[in-house]
Amino acid sequence: MERPFLAFHLSGGTTDALLVTPSEDAPLNIRQVGGSLDLKAGQAVDRVGLLLGLHFPCGPELTALALQWKEPVRVRATLKGSSCCLSGIENQCRKLLAEGHPREEIARVCLESIRAALEGIYKASGMEEVARRTGAVLNYDTGSTHVPNPEGELCKAFDLINPIAGADFIISICKLKSHCMTGLSGGVKNLFGCIPGLTKPEFHWRYPQERDFCGMLLDLCGTVKPGITFVDAVVSMEGDGPSSGDLRQTDMTLCATNPYELDLVLTKVIGRQPEDIPLVDCARERGLCPSSADGVELCGDPLRTFADFRMPRSRTVDFVSSIPRPLRGICEPIIRRYLTPRPKVLKNKCVGCGKCAESCPAHTIAIVDRKACIDRSKCIRCYCCHEMCPIHAIQVKRSRLLKL
Ligand code: SF4
Ligand code: SF4
Repeated sequence: MERPFLAFHLSGGTTDALLVTPSEDAPLNIRQVGGSLDLKAGQAVDRVGLLLGLHFPCGPELTALALQWKEPVRVRATLKGSSCCLSGIENQCRKLLAEGHPREEIARVCLESIRAALEGIYKASGMEEVARRTGAVLNYDTGSTHVPNPEGELCKAFDLINPIAGADFIISICKLKSHCMTGLSGGVKNLFGCIPGLTKPEFHWRYPQERDFCGMLLDLCGTVKPGITFVDAVVSMEGDGPSSGDLRQTDMTLCATNPYELDLVLTKVIGRQPEDIPLVDCARERGLCPSSADGVELCGDPLRTFADFRMPRSRTVDFVSSIPRPLRGICEPIIRRYLTPRPKVLKNKCVGCGKCAESCPAHTIAIVDRKACIDRSKCIRCYCCHEMCPIHAIQVKRSRLLKL
């Protein structure tokens, strides 16, 4: 990389503008230069939606309500440099409700306020200027659409973010990363970003078992149907991916129309067998890809492989699926309690920001004396907290029994 660039990162728990610059000491130097300083857009939508008596996740109902309000509304973004604050939206909507304003108007105020904040960030971070020069279209739609998936094996419908639900053709661009739950984050796992913000943790709650979660991702992929997938594996992540791993220079880009075959090939790139990567193994089981990467037709430069690519130190081990069904009810709680790796807060690093607590689907994290505390008895071992902690203060620890 020779020149700096600005990247915009919007996902379940993020609203960040990132300045990426070349560095001699590291493959990339990444600095956050903007974003939301408090609530994320999805959180603001859900909080206002619940205030109005809507069903969680509130995006679709709030959008439908807002569309019924035809009068202009006055909104103002709260910006601090190239960052914004969204918590004021909830306060403003609460005040309007107390003053007796119609629910439709309040819904409209909420969505227009988010739009104004996004406009402000796009402008302050330079994204608006880039879009103007290149003709790229910036996204202002934070709503979602219910998309049925009758072919799904585990999940028969998904709420998808509107830019995806309304797209004619989907180009998916992902990084190559190790992943502590699915084994690998590539073409299929990347599509989890099509699920609206705060509903992501719900899926961990609904599918706590590793293979069920992978099955859900395969159903999601079958719903989104990406037309083409690119993998930016110039710099990949190995070790404790997807967020606390180490960068690894792998110097390649890959592209495929079949995301399942792509992940199978990525498995070979990182020197693993398909049965080592639960997501790929589940795809093989469903007949979505050949049994081995040798069955995939490749073109371009010869494939490079990295036999020493490091996987997460602690992976979920799905003992439960291998137990006969009648015995699972008895064995599962014991196995989950004693053998599944668990999240551990590194108290000396934790700064008490609360991002882990916001993302925890089991609501089992409390911030006590500005440190995160996990109630282990309620933890479903989904590792969202590990993924969301911005300073890698949550480790995934293997059980002592497994170490033996
Ligand atoms: S563990 Fe991480 S995300 Fe959670 S409060 Fe501490 S610093 Fe924030
Ligand atoms: S504490 Fe972490 S691993 Fe446990 S349920 Fe909450 S987010 Fe998931």
